[in-house]
Parts: sequence; C-alpha cells; structure tokens
Amino acid sequence: MELFDRYSRQILFHGVGLEGQHRLAAAHVAIVGCGANGSAVASLLARSGVGTIRIIDRDYVEPSNLPRQTLFDESDAKESLPKAIAAARRIAAFNSDVVVEPQVADLTPDNIQVLLEGVHLVLDGTDNFETRYLVNDYSVSQGIPWIYAAAVGSYGVTLNVLPRTTACMACVFPESPHGAFETCDTAGILNSAVNLVASIEASEALKFLVGAVDKMRRTLLSFDVWSNDRAEVSAARPRPGCRACDERDFVHLAGKGRPHITLCGRNSVQIHERHRPVNFTEMDERLRPHGSVRHNDFVLKFWREPYEMTLFPDGRAIIKGTTDTAVARSLYARYVGS
Ligand SMILES: [Zn+2]
Repeated sequence: MELFDRYSRQILFHGVGLEGQHRLAAAHVAIVGCGANGSAVASLLARSGVGTIRIIDRDYVEPSNLPRQTLFDESDAKESLPKAIAAARRIAAFNSDVVVEPQVADLTPDNIQVLLEGVHLVLDGTDNFETRYLVNDYSVSQGIPWIYAAAVGSYGVTLNVLPRTTACMACVFPESPHGAFETCDTAGILNSAVNLVASIEASEALKFLVGAVDKMRRTLLSFDVWSNDRAEVSAARPRPGCRACDERDFVHLAGKGRPHITLCGRNSVQIHERHRPVNFTEMDERLRPHGSVRHNDFVLKFWREPYEMTLFPDGRAIIKGTTDTAVARSLYARYVGS
C-alpha cells in the first residue's frame, strides 16, 4: 500500500509502526508562527505524514528570512508572499497527501477559539511571549496540549505542556521573562540552534500523536550549541498556586489591556485595530499617485520614502521604517483610512 511505501523507514522504527503511522495520518495539529522554528517543525511533521496541519502566521517572506526559514525561497521573498501561504505551497510540493490549512492572521484573544478549533496539539513557532501566554491559557483552559519552543542566538529552550499533568508555561514563568531575554533582533540567531529545538519539538509531537505520551519529556530543557551548556529543570507537575493551572485565571485569553498596535521585529509596527476588509484593486489605484504600489492575491505593498506598508486583505498592516506607533497610526489613517 502507498502509506507503507512512502513511510516504510518510519514504520520500521519501533516507536511508530503501522498503527502509529495511521494515527499520524488522522492527526490535526496547529503551528502558531511560521518563521524559522515553525518552518522547521512544519517541514518535519509534514514529511512524517501528519495528516492535517494548520499554519497560522501574520507575516510575509523577506530575504533576511532565507538563512533560517527553510520552507521559503527567493521567489517567495520577491512576491512578499504571506508565510502561511508560501508554506502551504512548499508542503504541497513534497507531500501532497498532507492537508495544510494556511491562516494569514495574528493570533489574538478574539480569534484564538476559531483559529485553534479542532486541533489535537498546538506547536509553538512564535517569537513572542504575549502570544505564548495566550496559547498557554487556551491550552490549560481547554485541556489541549502544546509545546513551547524558542531559540535565540545559539540558545534553545523547550517545554511540553500537558494540561493537568505537567507544569504549564505560567507554572515555570509566572511573569513574562521579557527584558531578561534577548530577541533575535538584538542577539542574532544560528540556524543550527533553531533546527535542534525544532527537532526536539517535532519528536515530542510525534510521541504525543502516536499515543506514546509516557515517553514525553517532563522537563524544561535548554541548551546552547555554542558554549555546550545544557540544563534541565523538572516540570513534571503543575505548580500549586499557578495562575492558570490552579487558579484557572486566564487573563491572556480575556485579552485585558492588550494593545492593538504592536512592535514586531526590527523597525516596524503592526496595526490591527479593527477588521476592515480591503479591496486590493481599488486600494492600488488610490495609492498609486502617492508612491509605488504593487499587489498580489495575498498582500499589497506600498512604498513612500522612508516607509514601506504591507497591507493584508483583512485590513491588518505592517509598517516598516518606524518604531513610533503614532507615526505608523497616522500613516495608516492617511493612506488606508481611520
Ligand atoms: Zn500552570
């Protein structure tokens, strides 16, 4: 049979077997964020035969992504394709049996119930703690496991969160470790650190999906591929008094005080104040007298020195060339509408 042919080496592996392979085919996972780590995890799981993969990402492909983000190529960057769309195309080219559900969206308290509906496992491919705490609250409140994974510089860290069984991210980090943590924009990143953390994340996902939950690691694991430092902290049980596990207080899911304008990446601001469907053909004509503009089915790009605005069909925009949210908001109001 076809399944047996394609996945013969994986089926031979004792931990998977034919039964495990069938379970993978029936599995439905979500990957939140499809940058370096999300790309690597999506690639590994799609090649392993995980049946349905929902890829949620708010960003588009740029040339500086290509050293690490292994699902994308230069033509994706040239077209500024949304990463979720580019990922779906690439996966279809190497495993057309996998159903990919691309979602070009910023995961927020307003849409998380819809975007994560029906999945068995959530995988972290994001680059920020705001989204991770949101996913963690969703996971603990709904009893759906997720795997935290992050890499920066030469350092990687990962944690399996099995609600009611192991510690969650809020057990381990009650407060956001912002500030204490560098970001890729300040510390750079090695692609090998990303791929190591992605391999561990994908392996833990396979264990969960084939039903080998007892084999899953119950520690917060960190390592540094440059210094070779390695550490493991037990995360075997929920921490008594944990805001999420114990008090069932899901502040991030409630979205209290969440900003609608956020800094994202280097020298850019994301605006997602309201849902405002945009007709790209009309917007292209309207913006043409004010700068250079180009669009495809997925994004519209508008350049007006020194700014570059990328607009998505739902009205969300990423404005490059400033970190001043007031400047970004006024540009958006002037050219897209207030
Ligand atoms: Zn907890």
